[in-house]
Amino acid sequence: MPLWLKTVTKKIQSIRGTHDILPGSVELWQRVERTVHELFALYGYAEIRTPIFEDTELFARSIGAETDIVRKEMYTLTDTKGKQFSLRPEGTASVVRSYIEHSLYHDKAAKKLYYIGPMFRRERPQKGRYRQFHQIGAEVLGSDHPAVEAEVVEMLERFFSRLNLGGLRLLINSVGCVKCRPAYLKRLREDLAKKQAGLCPECRHRSQSNALRVFDCKVDSCQLVIDQLPSIVDHICKDCRQHFEKFEHYLDFLPHSKTMTCRREPRLVRGLDYYVRTAFEIVSDALGPTQNALVGGGRYDGLSEMVGGPPAKGFGFALGMERLILLLSGQEDMRSRYKAPAPDLFLAYVEELYLEKSLKLAQELRGKGVFAYVDFENRSLKAQTRLAHRLQARYLCVVGEDEIEKGKFFLKRMEDGEQSLLSREDIATHVVL
Ligand code: AMP
Repeated sequence: MPLWLKTVTKKIQSIRGTHDILPGSVELWQRVERTVHELFALYGYAEIRTPIFEDTELFARSIGAETDIVRKEMYTLTDTKGKQFSLRPEGTASVVRSYIEHSLYHDKAAKKLYYIGPMFRRERPQKGRYRQFHQIGAEVLGSDHPAVEAEVVEMLERFFSRLNLGGLRLLINSVGCVKCRPAYLKRLREDLAKKQAGLCPECRHRSQSNALRVFDCKVDSCQLVIDQLPSIVDHICKDCRQHFEKFEHYLDFLPHSKTMTCRREPRLVRGLDYYVRTAFEIVSDALGPTQNALVGGGRYDGLSEMVGGPPAKGFGFALGMERLILLLSGQEDMRSRYKAPAPDLFLAYVEELYLEKSLKLAQELRGKGVFAYVDFENRSLKAQTRLAHRLQARYLCVVGEDEIEKGKFFLKRMEDGEQSLLSREDIATHVVL
């Protein structure tokens, strides 16, 4: 016996915070992905696929060295030459890196890009929070017009209504810009310095290093402090205020939505340093009190420069697919509509001699678009019929000497047992119709 067989006995399992998406669930994921491809194209977005690992510095510079993501949550590895790479914790930085690297800014029009893919963060796993999770994201690069924001909201609203999802709340805020935010941050740090006693240890650290993040803390005692802090939206400059008001004005143009309500949320901030002006989230109470954010996004006008590119304004969002699937799979119609496909036709051969004939027939039928199923295990006819039931095949056809010689086949409809005698050429039309 080889050594590895003797010693390897422990069952290897998936890593905590990661998960398999199995047949039976994956159909719903595919449906969501199809909706993204179809709908986002209507708004002029093209898909972009970037690597899942990048130079660590890309994330440190863009997301911010003092953010929780970069400080604690990135999976970083060092190669043999001492270079550091990180698994991407989010998609925007990579898209902007690629936009610069391939000079996509040469187009006159704003560049609209979207992605679907896995992200990695070392977070404490719980329902709706994983270490490998998937995001659908979209970015508009090359425009700072507030109508961009409103069009993105329109697209998201349409996306959710196509998926029959309701009960969503859009929360919007402005987090100012590089001109007005420093003065607000100074004021915030001063306030926080006076309120240290009421803060959790993490927020005591944040209050100096990344003060805006205090607003995101879920600890009860911090909530009392947060309620007394000045709101950033009350301290933004005239340009930021006008931008925000125009965004709200364009939002008013959108048709009344049954899917989503909208309100200002003065305490909404984002956990990444690159956001300026508009910040938004879409939340669902059905996700529970702590992980209720389904979408997070905002404007990042200085990000391109931060990663060494030309000035390029930007706006985008990321939507957590696991949380979306969690919401959708709570819906009865989604569960029943998106299950693994069942065979159209199960070909049961009477003895092994007819396996080859069945394979040939199956090949022919697949060429005509029929999901034809042949079992290879040389089971009895009875066992094959049982299997056809288990697989929920729509039709069963027995393949034996008689059938092959005469070229006529009995097709049994599994639902009600109705039988039809068909010539070989007519099987596909009968089954597919
Ligand atoms: P963020 O990039 O943190 O703004 O996240 C955007 C969206 O991605 C969130 O609203 C969630 O839906 C989703 N998300 C973020 N982190 C996780 C995670 N660890 N597990 C599952 N989904 C996540």
